[in-house]
Amino acid sequence: MTNCVICEIVAGRIPSWIIYQDAEVICFLPKTLEAYGHTVVAPKAHYPDLYTAPEALLEHLIVAVKKLAIHYNDRIGSSGVNLLHASGVSAQQSVPHLHIHLIPGFDDDGLDAWPKFPALQYDKDELLEKLLLHEWNAP
Ligand SMILES: [Zn+2]
Repeated sequence: MTNCVICEIVAGRIPSWIIYQDAEVICFLPKTLEAYGHTVVAPKAHYPDLYTAPEALLEHLIVAVKKLAIHYNDRIGSSGVNLLHASGVSAQQSVPHLHIHLIPGFDDDGLDAWPKFPALQYDKDELLEKLLLHEWNAP
C-alpha cells in the first residue's frame, strides 16, 4: 500500500473505472465526475508532476489524451475537449501524482471550464525580457 491514490489504482488495490491502459498510461473515470465523460489520464509510474516526468513519457501521455478525445467524440458525441492540469501546490495540485483531467465538451452543455481571472495589467516589455527563450536548453 502506498499513500498515492493513483498508484493504488494502477496496482488494482483501489477499484476504478478504467477506460484504457497500456504499459505506460492509465485512463480512468474519477470517483467524482465533474462532467460527462470526465477522465483522468496519468502515467503508471509515479512522477509527482510535470517538472519531474521524462519528456518521452509526457509525449505518450498527451497522445493518449488525443486518442481518448477522438474516441469520446465518436462514442459519446462530444465535439471538443478541455484539459485541466496542476503541477505544484501553488497551482492547486491536490494529488501528487502527475495527471491530466480530460473534460469532454458538448454543444450547449453550458460548461465553463475557464477560470475568471482578474483583469491585471502588466508591463509586457518587462515580462517579455524575463520570459524570452532563445533556445530550449536555456537555463
Ligand atoms: Zn503515484
